[in-house]
Amino acid sequence: MPATIIDGKAFADTYKETIAAEVAALKASHGITPGLAVILVGEDPASAVYVRNKGKSAEACGIHSITERLPNDTTQEYLLKRIHDLNSDPKVHGILVQLPLPKQIDTNAVLDAIDPRKDVDGFHVVNAGKLSTGQDSLVPCTPQGCLLLLESIHQDMAGMHAVVVGCSNIVGKPMAQLLLKAGCTVSLCHSKTRNLPDMVKQADILVVAVGKPGLIKGDWIKKGATVIDVGINRVTLPDGKAVLKGDVDYPAALLVAGAITPVPGGVGPMTIACLLANTLKAARSYLKA
Ligand code: NDP
Repeated sequence: MPATIIDGKAFADTYKETIAAEVAALKASHGITPGLAVILVGEDPASAVYVRNKGKSAEACGIHSITERLPNDTTQEYLLKRIHDLNSDPKVHGILVQLPLPKQIDTNAVLDAIDPRKDVDGFHVVNAGKLSTGQDSLVPCTPQGCLLLLESIHQDMAGMHAVVVGCSNIVGKPMAQLLLKAGCTVSLCHSKTRNLPDMVKQADILVVAVGKPGLIKGDWIKKGATVIDVGINRVTLPDGKAVLKGDVDYPAALLVAGAITPVPGGVGPMTIACLLANTLKAARSYLKA
């Protein structure tokens, strides 16, 4: 029997309806409109699309969205100044700097300049540290979205073997932390992992975030495993058409896995929904201050 297809778009649409209702309730009860500021440096076309989608989705949920587009030759000093301005702007509850940044800018310096309470991407060391020590924090959006999709399939993941392929600070590492918190036994693989197919074969839950189209073959996957494909790769077909592909050989995996996310329409929409949820959470945190 082919795998259950995990419809991330439908899940995200429902989640965004809940967020919109909670945003409206926050406005009605406290007169607070959550505000999200997104900074885009440079003209990378893929980043421009992501930023536009984030802005549109925020407005659709009733979140006030500001997008600041800066030229490719923006200095680090200027970017840091803008972040400090937004840190002290009471209308802004969430700040997101779209990555990657141009070469002249130190990404860590920029991420560390964001007030951790406004760090809706969850990349600040304070939020990363809180996540790894089990404290409440703003969790990176993509792994949080993956977790919600996994929870829609598994009521209880305790004791399952979760294999995460790719260990970036923004996806793989926080994903591993979340799975550990859910009670999984976690293996974290990367480019130097030996015998990747053998590692993948052990996974009850497989999360792949590498950026290599079709890296994970169907016959590496354990029968019935739940597969979350984070990869987004632009591939040009022989007829010249450009399509998006994941890191998993989807047609082959569909025949083996128990459940699987498609690309597109899997993890991608969840990332944006979780960004909006984090913005709402950040706005609420000011009520407690
Ligand atoms: P990075 O390039 O930061 O990290 C890639 C990771 O994959 C690294 O840990 C690297 O290992 C590992 N890796 C590389 N080659 C192999 C290999 N052959 N076998 C095993 N591991 C390997 O990527 P990101 O985490 O930023 O993104 C990964 C993918 O997810 C991309 O396709 C990106 O577009 C997508 N993405 C999708 C999002 C969404 O919303 N759906 C959001 C964010 C990312 P090492 O550490 O040893 O170098």
